[in-house]
Amino acid sequence: MATRAPLPPGSTIGILGGGQLGRMLAMSAVQLGYRCIGYAPAGDNVAASACDDFFENGWGDTAALAAFASQCDVVTWEFENVPLAAVDAIPANLLTPHPKALGVAQDRLQEKRFVEELGARCAPYARVESEEDLARAVERIGTPGILKTARDGYDGKGQWRIASAHEAEGIRFPGRPCVYEGMVDFKAEFSIILARASDGTIRIWDSTANTHEGGMLAVSLLPAGPTVEAQLEEARDIARKTANSLGYVGVLTLEFFATANGPIFNEMAPRVHNSGHWTIEGAATSQFENHIRAICELPLGGTETRFAAIEMRNIVGEDALSAHHILAEEGEPHLHLYGKREANAGRKMGHVTRVSHAKP
Ligand code: AMP
Repeated sequence: MATRAPLPPGSTIGILGGGQLGRMLAMSAVQLGYRCIGYAPAGDNVAASACDDFFENGWGDTAALAAFASQCDVVTWEFENVPLAAVDAIPANLLTPHPKALGVAQDRLQEKRFVEELGARCAPYARVESEEDLARAVERIGTPGILKTARDGYDGKGQWRIASAHEAEGIRFPGRPCVYEGMVDFKAEFSIILARASDGTIRIWDSTANTHEGGMLAVSLLPAGPTVEAQLEEARDIARKTANSLGYVGVLTLEFFATANGPIFNEMAPRVHNSGHWTIEGAATSQFENHIRAICELPLGGTETRFAAIEMRNIVGEDALSAHHILAEEGEPHLHLYGKREANAGRKMGHVTRVSHAKP
């Protein structure tokens, strides 16, 4: 496969999206001698303080998108719901990874079909576009289940848990395409996070066991334990096939449920992922640095885990206001605060990673 020349130091990386993932990507880019420019609609864009420049413009502002792109040597994203029309306003040769990964990942139905064709198994699901569709889906798939909007959902938003057919009758249909999924009886949750270079080289990090609260990641733990470890080979195979078939360049994440019958695919994120934050201190190369290396045509770094035990815990809501006290705790805590102005309940404000050479 043809590869581009490595981007020299001083080149400019554009990042679409202004959240904490963009902030941590920019920090890695700066470390490697690059300039960074962000782009996102006005808001609490915490990536801005890590970027050399930041465009606060709407996704529909094609003139601003063109001005942003004209200053960039490569453009990537930290947020998978960037509207495709905005991506179209950026010259295709700059965009890395290829935006077809965004197209697939923005629609829960498309991404399920995509990975099923590669041999993955999903929870039973049905497309739902009306209350009648929902009643039929609940009858076929059964309860409990979850109704999810097909697009624009994240961190448990745009989801309704349905315990019984009676409960389904009481749901006010959200008025946009949804997916109804059977509830998976999982033993654990994990993700496969990989980096793929343009020459097809793939590096995969170890997988943590992930615990969610209210649909949002709360804790990632390594080692993940035998249940997850037994399912990694199959899940990694799916993740590799997904990256290869998208011709993907950068960091890609696939989330799975570990069940008694093996790994069940949940969803994919064509970007760095919250369950990979531990890699900053815990792996030979972090997910953020390897994403930057991949999109800039630099050699990928090793993904080996450097400690016997690692815990990454999200800091949510008001807890961030007193988070500095964590630094006084035992066990070398590594604190990351994202600099968000408002500590709304349920908002990811930072994370803390604890590493240990002692086995748990
Ligand atoms: P998602 O936004 O689809 O990743 O869902 C957020 C979280 O909700 C997941 O990580 C699970 O903890 C839970 N969840 C989502 N879908 C299902 C399902 N079909 N069965 C069981 N739990 C689910």
